[in-house]
Amino acid sequence: MLTVLSGGTGTPKLLRGFKDSEDMAVVVNTAEDIWVSNNKVTPDIDSVLYTLADVIDAEKWWGIRGDTFATHEALKAMGHFEELMIGDKDRATHVLRTELLSYGSTLAEATLELCDIFQVKARVLPMSEEDVTSVIETDKGDMHFQDFWITFHGEPEVKGVKLLGPLVPAPEVMDVLNVSENIVIGPSNPVTSIGPILSLEGVRDVLKVKFVVAVSPFIGDRPVSGPAAKLMKAKGFEPSTKGVAECYKDIVDVFIMDERDATDLSGYDFEVAKFDTLMTDRAKSRALAEFVLSKCV
Ligand code: GDP
Repeated sequence: MLTVLSGGTGTPKLLRGFKDSEDMAVVVNTAEDIWVSNNKVTPDIDSVLYTLADVIDAEKWWGIRGDTFATHEALKAMGHFEELMIGDKDRATHVLRTELLSYGSTLAEATLELCDIFQVKARVLPMSEEDVTSVIETDKGDMHFQDFWITFHGEPEVKGVKLLGPLVPAPEVMDVLNVSENIVIGPSNPVTSIGPILSLEGVRDVLKVKFVVAVSPFIGDRPVSGPAAKLMKAKGFEPSTKGVAECYKDIVDVFIMDERDATDLSGYDFEVAKFDTLMTDRAKSRALAEFVLSKCV
C-alpha cells in the first residue's frame, strides 16, 4: 500500500498522474481549514478529492471545473463577504460535509463518504480530527493562512509561522501509515502543507522506519508557485531545494528534484534522483508519478 502526504496544489498535480486506486491513501493537511458562511471548508482535502474524481478546475487548482458562483455573488449583493470564492457545486460539498459533522460523523468519516459520492477509490483522510491551524505571524498581525494568502495576497512581511491546536493525528492516519510500505511526500509547501502533518504526534517516528520518497516543490531557489519561500525563510530554512532537503533529511530515502536544478545535495544520507518535476499537463503528471513509483520499494 502507498500513502501520499498532500497539500492542495503541488501534490494534487502529482496525484493526477496516479491511477486512482483502492490501495492508496492520501493524508491531507487540514491546517488551512476554515468556516465560510457556516460551512466547514477543507481546501486541501477538496482539491485532492476533486483531482482524484477528475472534476478539479486545473487552471486554478481549487474548485470544480465549470462551476458557477451564483450563491457567492448573491451573498455579496446582500452585503455578506465570503473570504473564499465558493462555487455552487463546490458549496454543495461543504454543506454535505457540515451536515455529516452535525450528525456526529468524524471528519474522516465525512471525507470517506465524499470519496464514495465522488467515486474516488483512494482513502482520502484528514490529517487530524482536531482543529489545528497554521497562523502566519506578520507585520500586520497574526493571521489565518487563508487571510494571508487570499485577503492580503501573500504580501505582508512574515515574521514566523505557528501551528495552533492539539497535534494529534486522526486514528486512521496512523493505521494507513503503519500498513504502508511506501510513503510519498508530494511537492507541497514544506511549512504550511507537509509541516503540519509531520508535526502530529508519532508521524515523524513512523516515517523514519518507512521507505519515504519526496518530491521537491522548489526548482533551485524558487518554488514553482505560492508563498513557500517566504514561509520557509521565516521558519529558519533556506528557501530552496536544499532547504526542503533539510526539512525532510531525517525521514527521506529518495529525494526527487527537478532535472534543471543544480543544487548539490551530496553529503546527505539519501538517494537524489532527478526528473522533470514541472507538471504543466496531465502527461507530465503521469510521467512524474511513474518515476515516483519506480523509486518505491
Ligand atoms: P496549497 O495547499 O495550495 O498551499 O498547496 P501545496 O502546498 O500542495 O502546493 C504548493 C506548492 O506546490 C508550492 O510550494 C509549489 O512550488 C508546488 N508546486 C506547484 N506546482 C508544482 C509543480 O508542477 N511541480 C513541483 N515540483 N512543485 C509544484
